[in-house]
Amino acid sequence: MSNALLETHLLPPFSRITPDLVVPAIESLIEEGRREIEEILGRVGDEPTWESFVRPLENLQDRLSQAWSPVGHMNAVVNSEPLRDAYNACLPMLSAYATEVGQHEGLFRAYETLAASDEYARLDTAQRKSIDNALRDFRLSGIDLPDDRKQRYGEIKQRLSQLSSTFGEHVLDATKGWTKHVTSAADLAGLPESAMAVAEQTARACGLDGYVLTLEFPCYQPVVTYCDDRELRREIYEAFVTRASDVGPGAGKLDNGPLMNEILALRQELAEVLGFVEYAEYSLATKMAETPQEVLDFVLDLARRTRAQAENELEELRTFAREQHGAEDLEAWDVAYYSEKLKQSQYEVSQEVLRPYFPVPRVLAGLFATVERLFGISVDEIEEFDGWHADARLFEVSRDGEPIGRFYLDLYARPDKRGGAWMDDCRIRRRLDDGGLQLPVAYLVCNFTPPVGDRPALLTHYEVTTIFHEFGHGLHHLLTQVEVSEVSGINGVAWDAVELPSQFMENWCWSPEALAMISGHHETGEPLPQDLLDRMLAARNFQSGLAMLRQLEYTLLDLRLHMAAYRGRQVQQILDEARAEVAVLAPPDFNRFQHGFTHIFGGGYAAGYYSYKWAQVLSADAFSLFEERGVFDQATGEHFRDTVLASGGSRDAMDLFVEFRGRKPTVDALLRHTGIA
Ligand code: ZN
Repeated sequence: MSNALLETHLLPPFSRITPDLVVPAIESLIEEGRREIEEILGRVGDEPTWESFVRPLENLQDRLSQAWSPVGHMNAVVNSEPLRDAYNACLPMLSAYATEVGQHEGLFRAYETLAASDEYARLDTAQRKSIDNALRDFRLSGIDLPDDRKQRYGEIKQRLSQLSSTFGEHVLDATKGWTKHVTSAADLAGLPESAMAVAEQTARACGLDGYVLTLEFPCYQPVVTYCDDRELRREIYEAFVTRASDVGPGAGKLDNGPLMNEILALRQELAEVLGFVEYAEYSLATKMAETPQEVLDFVLDLARRTRAQAENELEELRTFAREQHGAEDLEAWDVAYYSEKLKQSQYEVSQEVLRPYFPVPRVLAGLFATVERLFGISVDEIEEFDGWHADARLFEVSRDGEPIGRFYLDLYARPDKRGGAWMDDCRIRRRLDDGGLQLPVAYLVCNFTPPVGDRPALLTHYEVTTIFHEFGHGLHHLLTQVEVSEVSGINGVAWDAVELPSQFMENWCWSPEALAMISGHHETGEPLPQDLLDRMLAARNFQSGLAMLRQLEYTLLDLRLHMAAYRGRQVQQILDEARAEVAVLAPPDFNRFQHGFTHIFGGGYAAGYYSYKWAQVLSADAFSLFEERGVFDQATGEHFRDTVLASGGSRDAMDLFVEFRGRKPTVDALLRHTGIA
């Protein structure tokens, strides 16, 4: 029987990937993997070499990734019950297989033998690094553990994988589980036209008149920012911040509380099984930062430097709300609303005023022109391809006329698509058995407001920044020169260095020279007018102190949840303490932010959320070299391409940074860019 997931294709045959194929394909690939590993080990005996041992293993892994990647992708962007079931049925199998391979005594010994052989010294940097990483990961998978602990390790990993998946599903379902039907436009006074249109479109899709509000970000965010009806703002705020929790409109139905407790307890146990004091220490074993204390110091230092400014910003907001709008007490659902009004009064620039200047076609053209000038690459759209939804697009990246990679783009929010924006890999750059090169392929996914009618989708400047950010991840994956899959593209890059290229790319969204290329009115084509540009740039650091502290609050929560000193404490209590320590704004008691904190409970950021700030230091400092030499200085662009982007995970992140910047990173550029003295 044919199975599209088991065929070899340049790109996944999305239209033929149906839920019924998923389990059989993954089962068969895992079975094949098990069998082939034993065959390879039998063949190489005591003399494993790169060609006889590592490459065939890579082939196996790549085959499995090529089948699983589109499944995971579709589960995220065109979710359905059968697909979700199939996806979930595979998770324990994949987790068990990964554990089995990660704890395979024979593989470990073969890697050890190869690392000690004469050949090792002759291998290139990437090859050696991939062997070193493999040995490190074997040890982190408990290879040297006694059998009973090894078994417990496997059980914990499997359970954690299920729990994380359920956590994310709860958030998705809770987001979908709340809607509000509003019949009269007058009840939505203040809401910008674009958000009204989305609410109207949602209503029509539900077969209703008027407007339907949802908790999806393109609806939630404008409502809390613009709606004059305070009670409505409170209602949607409450629904949003209590998703998947014990309180709020969906109280107890999809409560992530018990899941969080079990996840944290299992992570602590996992760390102990492996001989670490705490999960944070285990998490940092593969990262650029050395110890939890170092990260804690980094976070608290930034919080200290920021606090006074954030307090001033809050005071300014309170005064403004009281004096200009007679608002006496500022509640959580008032903050975005009055902040927007304050920003308006100070800078007369709103995200909505900017929208007409950022139609999607213009933004994409500007983005591609930017990377062309910086990195000497070109981007062309491929019209004919097999996609998963009408919104999906495909592009090819070339250098000197030669294709070097491809990426998919899926820009718009829709039901059954996971919220947020991300980049994921579809294919990895690697050298094949026949000497050919497999080119990298990436997925870039956003959740922008879809186009309405014939008008192109118009982005806020924030959304423009988002797409530059994700494109930075894409460049890291696509411009790699590495040919060894374990350290190719974003593979093997220390987690806290992963956000360097992405946040780095955001800087061009703030450069007047680049903005001239990125912006163009959707009707007249005129670029962002100078006065609007000036005001937008001036508004860049509006409330940057408050924003910084919010991030540091989440960072501190994440870190402490995974530290032994906080073991056994309630999540809410640790969060309350972190807030008392770094935040200047206390949310209401019913706020259950943590129940929707998918980064750390449903994703891979556990004891790693600090990476955003950490990498921001690196990216700001890297960009400061362009500030010195010109934002489109091609030599500097190519230098970045040939160091950070080209080498990816094949070299130490700090070494690459130093090679590019000529010295170690400092926090100065970040503080300067965010306007914090
Ligand atoms: Zn990112």
